Amino acid sequence: MPETTLVNGERLWDTVIAMAAVGRTPSGGVRRLALSDEDRDARNLLTRWLRDAGCAVRVDDLGNIYGRVAGEDPEAAPVVCGSHLDTVPTGGRFDGALGVLAALETVRALADARVQTRRPLEVVCWTNEEGARFAPAMLASGVVCGQLTLEQAYAARDLEGRTFEEELRRIGYRGSPEHRMRSAAAYVELHVEQGPILERAGAQIGIVEGVEGIAWGWVEVTGQAAHAGPTPLADRHDALVAASRIVLGLRALAAELPEVRTTAGRCEVTPNTVNVVPGGVRLSTDLRARSGEVLDAAARRLAALCETVAQRDGVHIRASEFWRSPPTPFDPLVVDAVAETARGLGYSTQRLWAGAGHDAKYVADRHPAGMIFVPSAGGLSHNEAEWTPKDDCVRGAAVLLGTALRLAGIA
Ligand SMILES: [Zn+2]
Repeated sequence: MPETTLVNGERLWDTVIAMAAVGRTPSGGVRRLALSDEDRDARNLLTRWLRDAGCAVRVDDLGNIYGRVAGEDPEAAPVVCGSHLDTVPTGGRFDGALGVLAALETVRALADARVQTRRPLEVVCWTNEEGARFAPAMLASGVVCGQLTLEQAYAARDLEGRTFEEELRRIGYRGSPEHRMRSAAAYVELHVEQGPILERAGAQIGIVEGVEGIAWGWVEVTGQAAHAGPTPLADRHDALVAASRIVLGLRALAAELPEVRTTAGRCEVTPNTVNVVPGGVRLSTDLRARSGEVLDAAARRLAALCETVAQRDGVHIRASEFWRSPPTPFDPLVVDAVAETARGLGYSTQRLWAGAGHDAKYVADRHPAGMIFVPSAGGLSHNEAEWTPKDDCVRGAAVLLGTALRLAGIA
């Protein structure tokens, strides 16, 4: 006999739809850029809902909003659940918002049932997760968890030249540094998968084991620019032909190593002219894997590929890495709590790793953290047509509530 949940599915869905109206686009998506007027309106709405649910609300110096419900043991570190309300310019209704609003539903449902937890419970809404307006992404959780500095965040500028700090003040959400998240017994984030794995597997709940590591680099190919007419093929040192072999080799490399994804997404050709054999190419590389060793192995194979191609085409090739985000495995305490809760509720599950960044990644550097995924229809996200059916949202919220209860304990 499966466990049942206290989640009120109708209320959760109505709340998700009401939030999606803030910054709604004509085609049914959401435009709620960080620290915009729409973001302010969404924050005001969330703050009101949190207070109505009995939460003590506080805002830190990055604009992160926390709603706290006291536990039986007021000194105990809280269990924190949440995500973000900002979106990309043509975003959807679920990315971020679902995790915040399901955390709100957890608080509401426990209040309805008059269930008090041993540890305090907190709902968190992180500022500027997307990085669409102020780079980099996950800016506010990055500062709170010590990966970025406050100065870096405050100085970040949007395309119009307005700073994060100015905009934070303008919308009235520059709170106090003492309000930052300091301790957490656990952090749990519900999010839409943003990919096709759960839907394809027919799984209702994704148990997220970690966030993949990312290595970004450049491959610089130096050949020789020459006239496209008189230069015989055998005499050419065509940088673009060499770069093309790298693009295909990089793709083949992903098929050879387990759980690696590789992408060449940017290509700059010099001189980029119709009648000139390309003399230079700069190609970006994006490598993703679940362990640093596998990322290293992929980088070594890429270097070997560059050497082979350089010899074959008589060009010079230099591969270099310019940014790396290490893989983040989530804490077994949280991963197991998610898995046991989903099993208790009788839901079908699939274990997977997140291929995109989430605030949970930075939180995991400081506190035991984990994530719950629910399916994204067609694997589509960062798109106005992003869709997760109501039943999937409710199942995700049920697993979030159950996990929070397991980790916080019942008084
Ligand atoms: Zn998100």
